[in-house]
Amino acid sequence: MRKVYLDNNATTPLHPEVKKAITESLDLFGNASSIHSYGQEARKAIEDSRKKVAALLNALPEEIIFTSCGSESNNLVIKGVTCQDVYCKPNGSHPGKHIITSQIEHPSVIIPIRTLERQGFKVTWLPVDSFGLVDPDLVKKAITKQTVLITVMTANNEIGTIEPIAELARIAREREVYFHTDAVQGVGKMKIDVKELGVDFLSLSGHKLYAPKGVAALYIRKGVFVCPTLQGGHQERGLRGGTENNLGIVALGRACELAMQGREQEVAKIWKLREKLRMGILEKVPEVMINGDPEKVIPTTLSVTFKYIEGESILLRLNLEGIAVSTGSACASGSLEPSHVLLAIGLPHEHAHGTIRFSLGIENNEEDIDYALKVVPRVIQELREMSPLWARK
Ligand code: PLP
Repeated sequence: MRKVYLDNNATTPLHPEVKKAITESLDLFGNASSIHSYGQEARKAIEDSRKKVAALLNALPEEIIFTSCGSESNNLVIKGVTCQDVYCKPNGSHPGKHIITSQIEHPSVIIPIRTLERQGFKVTWLPVDSFGLVDPDLVKKAITKQTVLITVMTANNEIGTIEPIAELARIAREREVYFHTDAVQGVGKMKIDVKELGVDFLSLSGHKLYAPKGVAALYIRKGVFVCPTLQGGHQERGLRGGTENNLGIVALGRACELAMQGREQEVAKIWKLREKLRMGILEKVPEVMINGDPEKVIPTTLSVTFKYIEGESILLRLNLEGIAVSTGSACASGSLEPSHVLLAIGLPHEHAHGTIRFSLGIENNEEDIDYALKVVPRVIQELREMSPLWARK
């Protein structure tokens, strides 16, 4: 049976060149903090990778901190900015207790902010329009003297909508408020230049970028101070204690280098495949809706609502036919709650439950899409024939 992986927003396979970089570095066991040659070799590899990650974002190497995952990068910003311990912040700590964020953020942003809310912070949860876009005017209106952080994602993991980050960051800067963007789904899929965007913090994650799990990074603009969440060692400028993950960091550096070299070509190829899938579904399957902004969308993501049936049954049936997709985000699956993103763009519960995310990557080709377009319409029709909702419509 043909196997087609269309769940690249959940995680990506290792790029063959990244795999090669890892295998070539398997003996790089030294502790990068050691003074001897083993340590220095590891240190050099880490600093080379830092330069590569920085180059992809147009940042300075010293503005990049390595972490273990995108969730950790997001937590570090949210907790590190709002922490009021002056010990870590030579410029003094912002006493404000107000945060602005959107309703469609990843749980690794939402949950730490909810924790702060329970501890007395005020939070503005920005609504989005039916495409998932944040309105910059609402951000302008929400800022007060108490606002310490604005965090809005670059691209949404479920529907792919790209937010107006440069505009939002400009508003934040004018009011001297820190701005963070979770770019875990954006990096490698669109041009991301931290200087052009004007952000203070930006999160990215290796395993969404053809590097392995267990490594990620955070951009922190030079001159900005945050308190560490993982305290202990002096590693990563004291912002992230813990002996560095040599192999993961080498892999992330190589993945960023590859993303920089091949991004435009890959993005054009993936966009073509996504469009073929979108048009094919619209042509062959009645009663479907495409979610997300029609233009401001990352090319990897196609969110489709198949009315009158359940996403879980679609997912399981497609899996039996060798096609891997997702309902909502992978982190949310396992829960019967409909996706908060789909509810925020205004889908009724029953439509949110019937939504599938197809997410494409560099390994997909025309034959994969042809196969998906052969299988998906049949599976949908078979499930609808069993659905009382379809019979009653
Ligand atoms: N932010 C977004 C938008 C994501 O899609 C994800 C993962 O799905 C994360 C953050 C978390 O990244 P990680 O899995 O590396 O913790």
